[in-house]
Amino acid sequence: MTAPGGARPHLLVVGAGIVGITSAFEAVRCHDVDVTLIDRTAPLAGISGRAGAGDLPLGWSPRHDDLMRRSWTWHRTVLGDGPWRSRYLSIWYDLSPETRRMVLGGTTRVEGETAALAHVLGGPSWLPEAFDVSWSYRISPKILARRLLDELTVDPRFSFRTGDVQEVVDGAGGGVIAEFDDGRRVRASAAIIAVGPWVNNRTNSWGLLAERAGVRTKRVYGFRARIDTERRAALMFADADAGIFAMPVTRPDEIALSVKHDEWDVPPTGAALPDSVLERGIDFIGNRTPFGAVRSVEPRVHVDTYGPGAVPLVESTAAGVAVVTGTHGSGVRLSPGLAQDAVARVLGAPTRGLPQATPPVASSPGI
Ligand SMILES: Cc1cc2nc3c(=O)[nH]c(=O)nc-3n(C[C@H](O)[C@H](O)[C@H](O)COP(=O)(O)OP(=O)(O)OC[C@H]3O[C@@H](n4cnc5c(N)ncnc54)[C@H](O)[C@@H]3O)c2cc1C
Repeated sequence: MTAPGGARPHLLVVGAGIVGITSAFEAVRCHDVDVTLIDRTAPLAGISGRAGAGDLPLGWSPRHDDLMRRSWTWHRTVLGDGPWRSRYLSIWYDLSPETRRMVLGGTTRVEGETAALAHVLGGPSWLPEAFDVSWSYRISPKILARRLLDELTVDPRFSFRTGDVQEVVDGAGGGVIAEFDDGRRVRASAAIIAVGPWVNNRTNSWGLLAERAGVRTKRVYGFRARIDTERRAALMFADADAGIFAMPVTRPDEIALSVKHDEWDVPPTGAALPDSVLERGIDFIGNRTPFGAVRSVEPRVHVDTYGPGAVPLVESTAAGVAVVTGTHGSGVRLSPGLAQDAVARVLGAPTRGLPQATPPVASSPGI
C-alpha cells in the first residue's frame, strides 16, 4: 500500500498494549511505513501491564495452533533469547486425553517415579502417583514491551502519542480517518485497532464488529503469592482441566496463580478478588505444589477478551482497518502471530524483514 504522491504510507496503531506494540514493531520491521502508536494514557496501561504471562503450549483449534507456531518462531528468530522469555518445566495434573492432545509438542507421562522426583523437588506429600511433564515458557510483557519500544523509538519512522480514539472510518478518496474524543481528526493510510477489552464498545465500528463476531469479555482472576525463597522451584504446576496454574515469576520469592472463574460481559475495570478464588488458589499451592505456606498475596484482577471458541479475532471494519483481540489468557503469547495477521491485513505481505519460516516440528518444546 502506497500513500498518494509516493510518500510513505502512514499506519495508526490504536492501543499500546502488547498486541499494539508488537503490531507497530512488525509494521516497521517488515514494511517501509511511518507508524504512530496511540494510547489514551501510556504504553502498557491496560491488561498487558498487569498480567504476567505463561507461554503455555496449549492450543485448541487449527487457528490457535497456527498462531502459536508462528509466535514461537517469531520469538526465536526475531528476538532470540533474553530475560523477556524464560523456560521451565511444567507438571500437569489429571490431564484429560483431550487436553493432552492440545499441548503442543506433547507431554511425557510419568508414572511410579514419584519417589525419585519428589526427592529432587523437595517432598513427597503433594506429588501424585502419575502426572505429565512438558516444557513451558514465561513471558514478561513489561520486559518484552520495553525491548520492542527501545528498538521502535530509535527508528525515525515511529512515533508515540496520547489520545483517546473514538472511531476510525474509511476516508473518502482512500485511507482512513481517526476521530479523537477532543474533536481532532487524523488522516492516515491504514489503522490497526488493538484496544484489548475496550473493544466491547457499542457506540463505534469496532464495538459493533466485536459484538457481531461474538467477542465477549470475561473477568480473569489471579494473584501473586509470596513464599519462602528456598521453597520456590522454576516449575509450573497446572490442573488444566480445573483451570488452576501456578507458575514462577521474575521475583525469587513469588509465584503467580491464575484461577478459572466464570464472570462474563464485564467492563474493563478493576474488581475485588473473591475469597473463594483465593481459597482455591492457596489450597492448590499448599496441597499440590512444593512451594509451602503462602506468606502474603497481591491480587491481580482484570478483564480479558474472549472470541467464540476462545479463538482470537483479526477482522476489518472498513478497508484499511484491522481490529485485533487476543483471547483466553493468550494475548501475550500469541501477540506476534496476531500482529503479523493484522499488519498483513492492512499493509499486505511483508516487503522486508526476516522470512516467516515454518518451525520444524522437532524444535517444539516437547520432551
Ligand atoms: C490475570 C491474567 C492472567 C493472564 N495470563 C496470561 C497468560 O498466561 N498468557 C497469555 O498469553 N496471556 C495471559 N493473559 C492475557 C493477556 O494479558 C492479554 O490477552 C493481553 O495482555 C492483551 O493485550 P492487548 O494489547 O490486547 O490489550 P491491553 O494490554 O489491555 O492494551 C489495550 C490498550 O488500549 C488502550 N486503549 C483502549 N481504548 C483506547 C482508545 N479508545 N484510544 C486509545 N487507546 C485505547 C488502553 O489504554 C490499553 O493500553 C492474562 C490476563 C490476565 C488478566
